[in-house]
Amino acid sequence: MLDYHLHLWEHGQRSLDATLEQVAAYCEHAQAEGVTEIALTEHFYRFRQAEVLRGWWDEDEADQGLRSGMRQYWDDEQGGDLDRYVEVALAAKAAGLPVVVGLEVDYFRGRMDIVERLLAGYPFDVLLGSVHWLGAWGFDNNAVPAFAAEWEARKVEAVWDDYTTSLEELAASGTCDVLAHPDLCKVFGHVPGAPDEFYDRMAEAAASSGMAAEVSSAGWRKPIDEAYPAPPLLERFKARGVPVTTASDAHRLAIVADRRTDVRSLLTAAGYTSLRAYAARTPRDVDI
Ligand SMILES: [Zn+2]
Ligand SMILES: [Zn+2]
Repeated sequence: MLDYHLHLWEHGQRSLDATLEQVAAYCEHAQAEGVTEIALTEHFYRFRQAEVLRGWWDEDEADQGLRSGMRQYWDDEQGGDLDRYVEVALAAKAAGLPVVVGLEVDYFRGRMDIVERLLAGYPFDVLLGSVHWLGAWGFDNNAVPAFAAEWEARKVEAVWDDYTTSLEELAASGTCDVLAHPDLCKVFGHVPGAPDEFYDRMAEAAASSGMAAEVSSAGWRKPIDEAYPAPPLLERFKARGVPVTTASDAHRLAIVADRRTDVRSLLTAAGYTSLRAYAARTPRDVDI
């Protein structure tokens, strides 16, 4: 098993310093759970190096409340140093720990060329691609009141359509290697009566881009109480030959490798016999 989606810091945490001891503790916990390799995948936007992207939310002219909510969220989350983070991850690798260096990269519509320039030159092993916001709306974050209220103002089908379009654009950009939590739009339990059309589009986006898809236990810790992706979407990934990684999306030590046996059962039921791992952004297959 792999845990290919891990954060060093909780949301809202202000002191964003990476340490070798923390990475070593993550590795030790993961190995005790039978995980052979982990990927550190902190959010790119939490680093000062992403600050040049500031203001992207102002392109969403529809709602001032969403824009100011996103501006506040961005300010509250920022402060890490990407150089230091990579340095610590490389030191962990050099010490023989079973860790690869990654990032969770958000989809910034119209700005992925800037993102690629900012990330060029860093020795990443794997980049996760995520859609967490639609325009200025952080749809998966109910801690911001304006974001939570927005769910009441939109139709579920329209949200899923917007999300899926963003996922398609992210995949087509070629910036990242793995689609993280592919059906995140279900996070609060809002699922269309007939989601098949969206599942088909998500699977096609992964297949046509050559990206892998992440199977994550994080959804079990959210109101939807279901892994990402839903079984019908995982079946479509399998049918189209989309490789998968496994992940907990932990933001703290106790959750590392969370529910790995349940994740394994999902994969086995869908017919998967291997996982995708990465080194220097080159894929290889490993045993489940
Ligand atoms: Zn995420
Ligand atoms: Zn994450």
